[in-house]
Amino acid sequence: MDKTVGILGGGQLGRMLAAAASLLNIDVVILDSGDHAPAKQILTPRRPETSHVDGSFTDPVKIRELAAKVDVLTVEIEHVEANVLEEVESSLPLGVHPRPSTIRIIQDKFVQKEHLRKAGSPVSEYLPVQPSAESISDVASKLGLPFMLKSRTLAYDGRGNFVIRDLSQVEEALSVLKDRPLYAEKWVPFFKEIAVVVVRSTTGEIVSYPAVETVHKDNICHLVFAPLRSRDPAVQTRARVAAEAAIKTFEGAGVFGVEMFLLSDGTIYLNEIAPRPHNSGHFTIEACETSQYENHLRAILSLPLGSTALKVPSAAMLNIIGASSNYQEILTLSQRALSIQGASVHLYGKSECRKGRKMGHITVVAPSDAELRRRLRPLLEILPGGSP
Ligand code: ATP
Ligand code: MG
Ligand code: MG
Repeated sequence: MDKTVGILGGGQLGRMLAAAASLLNIDVVILDSGDHAPAKQILTPRRPETSHVDGSFTDPVKIRELAAKVDVLTVEIEHVEANVLEEVESSLPLGVHPRPSTIRIIQDKFVQKEHLRKAGSPVSEYLPVQPSAESISDVASKLGLPFMLKSRTLAYDGRGNFVIRDLSQVEEALSVLKDRPLYAEKWVPFFKEIAVVVVRSTTGEIVSYPAVETVHKDNICHLVFAPLRSRDPAVQTRARVAAEAAIKTFEGAGVFGVEMFLLSDGTIYLNEIAPRPHNSGHFTIEACETSQYENHLRAILSLPLGSTALKVPSAAMLNIIGASSNYQEILTLSQRALSIQGASVHLYGKSECRKGRKMGHITVVAPSDAELRRRLRPLLEILPGGSP
């Protein structure tokens, strides 16, 4: 393919996008700081014009420099400068995907919730809140306890969330969330967390991957099971329909991760949307006919979308999360996985191992759910920092 794609952000999602691009011989240029960003490590620019850009994906000058080198801009992180993307959009032969307007809505979780509610998507109760004890107490009386106080912006892996179980925690919450703009969400007593990766092409065509179950530990995605199993098989379809309907309301192409809560009575609420490849879709590399990364590239380059069907009966994805600065634990787990049938190891090449940092992941595929759990068990027993 004779197009060059610019990506804001050079973390693991950028690295997996770059790996998918190499199969289609698509040039990729990364904007991130340093030469050792995970995505930059695996990409040697083929021409001087496509050398990577060193700088922050929030720096207007650097975004303009990247835009001048490529046919289309996309993102692997939503915390970028939407105004600058809007400014450069018309100068790019294939534009910016998803559209800067979409990124702007999604990057403020309160604005995102308002957008989804107005569009008729199912979201649970939420309220605006000011960063003051009075305002938070007022919200508590309306939403009840516990409730979730969330930063509207720059959140990831639960950093930006504070569970208020008792009003005595308000001062602590305010000091943890400091000067961030906040809103509050009613507590959702979910039965399971689920997610659907949706692909939207430049023509507006929409397809989705099978719904999966996501298991979080300490607010960080820990395990993904694909497909989602439930007593009521209709949940699978309802989740995909709700996710696709939500994505229809945004502009621009690419893949979107739609995180949802499933309640025990079958109710589905949307939690949040990511305008980019998503952790819950890593499994698609080994388990689906086309990975979310390849489909993201196909979508933004107006190529035919690939099949999202599973090609194995059962799959799981285990995030390799640092427990400390000890990288040896990461290697021990990874090496154990190499001797397990159906397991594929992905290490992201991050320069430093830290507690709570996503260092890699392991996908396991199997001919049945029972066999999948048998293959997964020895890995869960040697997780960094001990078992969950
Ligand atoms: P991500 O890494 O997915 O971007 P984030 O920092 O944006 O995470 P959220 O997805 O808002 O955070 O929340 C993290 C986790 O906290 C959720 O996956 C869920 O387990 C829990 N959670 C979030 N909101 C609620 C809620 N209203 N009620 C109950 N649990 C919640
Ligand atoms: Mg988030
Ligand atoms: Mg989330």
